[in-house]
Amino acid sequence: MTDLKQFQIWFVTGSQHLYGEETLKQVAQHAQVIAGALDNSPQMPVNIVFKPTVKTPDEIYHVCMDANSSKNCIGIIAWMHTFSPAKMWIGGLKILQKPLLHLHTQFNRDIPWGEIDMDFMNLNQSAHGDREFGFMVSRMRLNRKVVVGHWQDNKIIEEISNWARVAAGWHDWQGAKFVRFGDNMRYVAVTDGDKVEAEYKFGYSVNTHGIGDLVKVINATSDAAIDKLVKEYGDQYKLDNGLKKGNEKHASLREAAKIEIGIKTFLEEGNYKGFTDTFEDLHGMAQLPGIAAQRLMASGYGFAGEGDWKTAALVRAMKTMASGLPGGNSFMEDYTYHFDPNNQLVLGSHMLEICESIADGTPSCEIHPLGIGGKADPVRLVFNAAAGPALNASVIDMGNRFRLLVNEVVAEAPMQNLPKLPVARVLWKPYPDMQRGCQAWILAGGAHHTCYSQNISAGQLHDFAEMAGIEFVLIGRNTDIYQFKNELRWNEVFYQINR
Ligand code: MN
Repeated sequence: MTDLKQFQIWFVTGSQHLYGEETLKQVAQHAQVIAGALDNSPQMPVNIVFKPTVKTPDEIYHVCMDANSSKNCIGIIAWMHTFSPAKMWIGGLKILQKPLLHLHTQFNRDIPWGEIDMDFMNLNQSAHGDREFGFMVSRMRLNRKVVVGHWQDNKIIEEISNWARVAAGWHDWQGAKFVRFGDNMRYVAVTDGDKVEAEYKFGYSVNTHGIGDLVKVINATSDAAIDKLVKEYGDQYKLDNGLKKGNEKHASLREAAKIEIGIKTFLEEGNYKGFTDTFEDLHGMAQLPGIAAQRLMASGYGFAGEGDWKTAALVRAMKTMASGLPGGNSFMEDYTYHFDPNNQLVLGSHMLEICESIADGTPSCEIHPLGIGGKADPVRLVFNAAAGPALNASVIDMGNRFRLLVNEVVAEAPMQNLPKLPVARVLWKPYPDMQRGCQAWILAGGAHHTCYSQNISAGQLHDFAEMAGIEFVLIGRNTDIYQFKNELRWNEVFYQINR
């Protein structure tokens, strides 16, 4: 969806004039080699751009200022090949608004046992130079990612690549617009929250349009555009017989296509990155958007139902991070349980709107009644999701802070057919197990709405929370309920003090 190659991460090497010209020349050469190698590694999703060595407070300040104002720069990698006295970094770090990765590496992998002398020691000092830099970042209480290891090690390149994806998701949120058609579902708590605080913390805005504004755009859709999209449905999905041309439900398929085109047009014209709707406010619409929401999500828009703007924005960010990767990200809801003591599972789904990016095989396009909302039968895509490792992520508003809660899970293929279930679905086992996974989720106040991801890791979402400066809580393989409750209590104190 998003072309991440439009983005840059700047590779900034710190030093000082004390070393003399010859050493500084070597520092610059080595930094250029490392930046070039990272830039050329096949898994690197963005461009890594070498910047001239910074040696004075003024140079440091200016590279940070330039990074802030550069439209394509989504973050900085800092490396201290030599010692770079860190008081020089105060001014720059104080104004830096882009995410920071501290790469603690050195140019040579091995100690050159036979040749090592004091000139070599003079040049290759990151083992202590990076500690001086690290002190200042910690002293200033700034969040950053620290990556340790040799720059040619694939694991290190992967860590940097994963972080670059997160930085792209963060960048995508800055100035982003999300639109809500209608308000929050009446009386629902967890999907609501402080949109002012969210804009301040996350950088995106959320504003409402009455459904009538959307209906006007939907009704302006041309028959030719509907013909074209209906053909696309037929080409891409297994169409229910009743939906095919000449059959009794074909008009509903055309109506669904009209809704999809209308919403897409509205999003494009308003430059929106995602949307929410609610079945309680569909005046003038024939159906609740089903296939429309599913396909718009698949093309990269954020979406969540019932006015849940926090989840819609999270879906968008995670889709941006995952651009170009196999697997998908979808709006999700914990729906119902399988409590067989030998095989406990959660069945995740929604009324309609699960993204086909997580589908296993070709979805079928079907029409069924919907008992809620009082509208005509909506068209939807029905499929099973692929088995394998995944996670659920939820952003909740705790009143004094936002919390990003993540539960690692393993998805399983359904062991039986579900011939009467007319919606897309996923079956998963939460870590550490069903009982403790669900217990911890509820204790942490996690929402029933999530972003379900097959290709973004908990570690990446941890980095994302740090970029945002919000709380991150993980439920994973090692979750112990006693410690988990302590963590929640201790975080409560931390966020009261650290406001
Ligand atoms: Mn829901």
